[in-house]
Amino acid sequence: MPDCRTMEATELRIAILSGKGGTGKTLVAVNLAAAAGSSYMDCDVEEPNGHLFLKPAWSQTETVTVKVPVVDRTRCTGCRRCVDFCRYGALAYTSAGLMILPKNCHSCGGCILVCPEQALTERERTIGTVQKGFSAGVHCHSGILEIGEPSGVPIIHHLLKSMGDLPNPVFLDCSPGSSCLVMESIRDVDYCVLVAEPTLFGLHNLEMVWELVRLFKKPCGVVLNKVLPGENLGETFCQERGITILAQIPFHRDLGLLTSQGKIAVKEASEYKSLFSCLLTILSQEVHCETVAYS
Ligand code: SF4
Ligand code: SF4
Repeated sequence: MPDCRTMEATELRIAILSGKGGTGKTLVAVNLAAAAGSSYMDCDVEEPNGHLFLKPAWSQTETVTVKVPVVDRTRCTGCRRCVDFCRYGALAYTSAGLMILPKNCHSCGGCILVCPEQALTERERTIGTVQKGFSAGVHCHSGILEIGEPSGVPIIHHLLKSMGDLPNPVFLDCSPGSSCLVMESIRDVDYCVLVAEPTLFGLHNLEMVWELVRLFKKPCGVVLNKVLPGENLGETFCQERGITILAQIPFHRDLGLLTSQGKIAVKEASEYKSLFSCLLTILSQEVHCETVAYS
């Protein structure tokens, strides 16, 4: 029987998820990264907020672009083959000629291939940025989708490409819910931490995100946040299904205050340092045991 506590993984990528916003997902991700002194990746590209706590000094900003078609009107004969080909409604032919709706385009490149006149070429369109920095022992990468852009998936791809440059473990702060942004974020992770709050709504969202990680066959455990004395619906849910409860974070005014002030709890109070260090240890054992079980 291997000793889980002594095993080392060459790469350790841990996604932090929640079924909805406001459950404490960023709180858990930021404090785990700070307790481990490793890496934090903000994949919540529509509303990244981990930097409000970590306050990194950004050393690099990279532009994220996607390819969209551009038409040469002197070549276009109006045959409409490109319009018929596009499944995303990104092309239309009007009395003014071929219209391109860049935000509908999925950059498949198909229209360029089917055009018999070589009237279509590609240009780069900026949809957001990735920032890279460092703060008090934590390497921090953060994706930011520009306002009005329909999909942050290319930004997630850009972020994940830099995963190998970061010290382990890397904690990925995912978007809330179970959208394609979350699916892209967890695709290659080793373990998922599901953060839940003890309300009926919280239970529904926990179930939703648990179903998602099961679909992806990812090992997972639950952190119950905002725990009050008495019955906890999330706890019952986990016990009935044999889901590991990694930690319970009590509902406490002090933690709410630290969070509202943009402070990192493990750096401010010994009880939270102890709580997250303990969570880190349990998580490490869980991940390494799962790695052995899956290998
Ligand atoms: S690249 Fe693909 S998605 Fe974009 S306009 Fe052309 S066919 Fe449509
Ligand atoms: S396929 Fe080419 S020639 Fe035909 S409408 Fe589209 S851009 Fe114009």
